[in-house]
Amino acid sequence: MTEDWLFRAEAVCLQCGGRCCTSAHPPISGHRYHRLVARGVPEDSFEWRGYRAVRARGDGTCILCNGSRCSIHTIKPETCRAGPFTFDVKGHVIEIFLKYETICPLVRLFRENPGAYEQQLARAKESITRLVANLTDGELAAICRIEEPETEKVAEIPRVYHDHRH
Ligand code: SF4
Ligand code: SF4
Repeated sequence: MTEDWLFRAEAVCLQCGGRCCTSAHPPISGHRYHRLVARGVPEDSFEWRGYRAVRARGDGTCILCNGSRCSIHTIKPETCRAGPFTFDVKGHVIEIFLKYETICPLVRLFRENPGAYEQQLARAKESITRLVANLTDGELAAICRIEEPETEKVAEIPRVYHDHRH
């Protein structure tokens, strides 16, 4: 499959200006926290919101956003890697949602390119499965209390427990 859509996606995100990195507060599992700190991310980049999250600046942009780029792109949090897919957990099931095109222009590209959609959906499922497996029930409950309107459910996958892959 051509990776051409990745270049188109980059252009769409540049034009958008990183809307998804504003008020994002991406969740950080204990496992990823140690990995990020070991890679030099300052400990005060994180805050507790019922779960450990990346802090935002006064204007709402993520503290790890450098201009319009993610300063930890290769090791960015699972929910950032999964976008524009997001999730909820119901019992033993993880529900996968897709943001509306009105809040993420990248969705149009996925609608026009089923191969790209499937590739990103697979990446989102893998990332979210790993995140959920590495969170405590309390952290997960706090994350799932966050309302995410303007999304539609597109898939369900089984929840995996206690995944400690790196
Ligand atoms: S909101 Fe969508 S289009 Fe905008 S930067 Fe984020 S992923 Fe890209
Ligand atoms: S960690 Fe990176 S991709 Fe995620 S919200 Fe922050 S700047 Fe954006």
